Amino acid sequence: MARRFDKSRELRLRAEAVIPGGVNSPVRAFRAVGGDPPFITRGEGARIWDADGNEYIDYVGSWGPLILGHAAPAVVEAVIEAARRGTSFGASTPAEIDLAEAVLDAYPSMENVRFVNSGTEATMSAIRLARAYTQRKYIVKFEGCYHGHADALLVKAGSGVATLGIPGSAGVPEEFVQFTLALPYNDPSAVEEAFKKYKGEIACVIVEPVVGNMGCVPPQKGYLDALRYLTSRDNALLIFDEVMTGFRVAFGGAQELYGTRPDLTTLGKIIGGGLPVGAYGGPSDIMDMIAPLGPVYQAGTLSGNPLAMAAGLATIRQLRDNREIYGRLERMAATLVEMVTEAAREAGVQVTANRVGSMFTWFFTPETVTDWLAAATCDTQKFGRFHNGMLNAGVYLPPSQFEAAFLSAAHSDEDISQTVAAAREACSGVLV
Ligand SMILES: *Cc1c(COP(=O)(O)O)cnc(C)c1O
Repeated sequence: MARRFDKSRELRLRAEAVIPGGVNSPVRAFRAVGGDPPFITRGEGARIWDADGNEYIDYVGSWGPLILGHAAPAVVEAVIEAARRGTSFGASTPAEIDLAEAVLDAYPSMENVRFVNSGTEATMSAIRLARAYTQRKYIVKFEGCYHGHADALLVKAGSGVATLGIPGSAGVPEEFVQFTLALPYNDPSAVEEAFKKYKGEIACVIVEPVVGNMGCVPPQKGYLDALRYLTSRDNALLIFDEVMTGFRVAFGGAQELYGTRPDLTTLGKIIGGGLPVGAYGGPSDIMDMIAPLGPVYQAGTLSGNPLAMAAGLATIRQLRDNREIYGRLERMAATLVEMVTEAAREAGVQVTANRVGSMFTWFFTPETVTDWLAAATCDTQKFGRFHNGMLNAGVYLPPSQFEAAFLSAAHSDEDISQTVAAAREACSGVLV
């Protein structure tokens, strides 16, 4: 029986009257999959509930931050405790040092870290720093990688931009992106070419070491090391944008998992435990260029906010003290991804699954997906029907073919079997 979305529909109409598209971030509008976006009123563990009382097993997890699940008791307690003592001071607090120390312990490539309020701010600031440090203008990014919505990085940017099928963004003058080179992912020779053509002019290469924003696309063997080699050879900086992968694919992120050391790292999502946080860090000789020590300006009224620091610290401590979480996530995600892929095959639907740890995507294409060109071969109509079927069966997936799904430590084996059963149903409705 189809679920009812009457209250969500009412809320959507109210929202659309006052907020562009009714949403504060585009992909939430469900444009790519159709149907009514549920308005969420509550979450607990692996489950969320909408305004009509429908219950879902959630695989969005706030787009990555909620590795411990919704309303994790330790996180909620830490936030309440912090709020009681005051929500913001615009002055330094001990909690910022606690979180900085916890992050640096997990990421040996960083000696110093600066907290900001979003992943967008983190990457934007890291790019500014890389340009200042190298005194060069050009930056290299990859097609299908998303690094937030700063002007210079909104070029072939995956995520919502890809979901909406637009090349970049209106309102970004050509001149603002003339120093941004967008190259295909997983193709070291393209990077080598760029360094030949712009020798001594490229400030940095920024990369999602595991892409999540064209759907999940892992780096091919040796790719990250090739980026390390090519950047070092020309004295350019290598920036790992680990906003999504940090504390997700491993406690120490993709840099720990693949053993490649970047110059700068950007973080976000999990380090805020569901509150708005971003961070960028690296060796102190580079980080010392940031104000007040150096000439690179970057600031924030709410940066290092006590509530956000408390939520992040509670999350990271729980992960640190329960490292077995990662092994469990790996096993459960492997089972889930294989069984749903199997269900699709049985229904005659061609699906390619990509997964690294607890981030994954079912691409509705027979192609192997290693870059944006391959991801773009997906049948998004079929994905839309699959998404609708899953939603109606009580499984909340990212409403876009080009976004990774996430498993949390709160998901149970029972959640997995329910999801697989839902997928069998949903797949039977994909081929019409
Ligand atoms: C989510 C994300 C960002 C942007 O972070 P916001 O907090 O949404 O600004 C940047 N880079 C990557 C890899 C991301 O996944």
